Amino acid sequence: MIRLLLTATLAVLPAAITASASDLVVVESGELPIILTAPHGGAEDVPGCTLRTAVGSRFVNRPDQYTDRLARGIADELKRLTGKPPYLVMARFHRKYIDANRRADEAYGDPGCSAVYDAYHAAIRRLVNDIRARHPHAMLFDIHGQAAYPDSILRGTHHGLAVARLLARAGAPAVTGPDSVFGRFAAMGYRIVPLNNTAPTDRVEAPGYTGGHTVALYGSNHQDGIDAMQLEFGRDLRAPAIIAATASDTAQAIAAFYGRYLK
Ligand SMILES: [Zn+2]
Repeated sequence: MIRLLLTATLAVLPAAITASASDLVVVESGELPIILTAPHGGAEDVPGCTLRTAVGSRFVNRPDQYTDRLARGIADELKRLTGKPPYLVMARFHRKYIDANRRADEAYGDPGCSAVYDAYHAAIRRLVNDIRARHPHAMLFDIHGQAAYPDSILRGTHHGLAVARLLARAGAPAVTGPDSVFGRFAAMGYRIVPLNNTAPTDRVEAPGYTGGHTVALYGSNHQDGIDAMQLEFGRDLRAPAIIAATASDTAQAIAAFYGRYLK
């Protein structure tokens, strides 16, 4: 009797874990050479995963509030503007369980969390591989929120490293020029950090916001990567009354960049 129960439990368990892992990560294939990722906007509990405790540097367990709505809004508006959807990978799980923008050893506290963390990163890797097979040039935007510069949008590329290929083929204007994403943000009147009057490799990206694990892992400094940039939206820009406008403006900035540098 005991053996029967045990067998039944073991047979059911892996399927249950797989199902909840995929339920907790939004994955959408696209047609544009653009991937949006959003690791910190989720609110869902992770079954079988205990809460994280402080390990490593810069431990944060609060979500980047509304960045899931922001990423969704950018994706919808990009499709409206270009006629094609971007790729999208979005965490539905809460950051207090798993920080998907950290290395596995800092991302969660116990093995019960690994299936969901792995599902998030397996999805990004699969979409990066797919996009590289289909398009000569591509860009990943990792969507975040911060409160240190509440009215500003911050650029994180590990001081140009994650956009190495873009810089090599198109030069600094692709990151700081009038048809770059941050060039468009500045033209729309947004405060940006750093300003566009320095070179992308000048090591002037804001300390603590130079880009995290995702941008480091999938960036174009790797043979199997694509150009990658972290976008950190200030708290004021994510206020419920204006988040739709922020998403729309961001989609316009990305669409302009796409038209000039990715087509
Ligand atoms: Zn974040």
